[in-house]
Amino acid sequence: MSRIGLFGGTFDPVHYGHLRPALELAEHYDLDTLYLLPNHRPQHRNAPQATTHQRIQMLRRAVSDVPRLEVDTREAERNRATYTIDTLTEVAAENPNATLVFFMGVDAFAQFDAWHRWEDILSIANLVVIDRPDATLSDFARQLIERQVKSSGAAITPDSVGVIEQREVTQLAISATAVRGYVNRAQNIRFLLPDTVREYILEHQLYH
Ligand code: ATP
Repeated sequence: MSRIGLFGGTFDPVHYGHLRPALELAEHYDLDTLYLLPNHRPQHRNAPQATTHQRIQMLRRAVSDVPRLEVDTREAERNRATYTIDTLTEVAAENPNATLVFFMGVDAFAQFDAWHRWEDILSIANLVVIDRPDATLSDFARQLIERQVKSSGAAITPDSVGVIEQREVTQLAISATAVRGYVNRAQNIRFLLPDTVREYILEHQLYH
């Protein structure tokens, strides 16, 4: 049995608030691979954002020498909005013997009931909700965890599906919004993200 993790996000840009938890989770769950999964985002002209290609390049630079961490570009490279359920269905078909673990921050999980076919997600994958500074669980999220613990158990095992675990990781109060703000104000972004990503941002004059 292999274990595959997916961690979705905009990653505009990727920062240590994503990377440190990702590495800790890959090790804790003994994942063969944890894929950082940049989402599709329509490009608005003149928006102070990176392009899809640039978001992917920054992610690739960030994980190039990190064991277990990789980038899955399938959602970003599709030229339409995609749903997590479709991505997970594809990954499950490509890896028929794998246990799938989908990671999200507390803030993302608080709105999980608005996700397309969220109940179906729990029929093919397990969820790990990671703590994030200043974010708390919604009532819906708390009740859903209780329900899944009753129906699917409390811990992810090799053949489990539908388990939702909450996991503490090193808390880093970094957000991509804050990083973009620093760049915009010409402040130094060292120690918020890998130097390779910082160099890419400067080289391509992103977020001005
Ligand atoms: P933005 O500030 O642009 O909204 P972000 O920093 O929140 O971006 P995203 O790409 O939106 O980053 O986040 C992807 C996933 O990573 C989400 O599930 C989010 O909850 C989680 N995440 C982002 N930053 C942190 C952090 N500092 N600690 C824990 N989880 C985080």
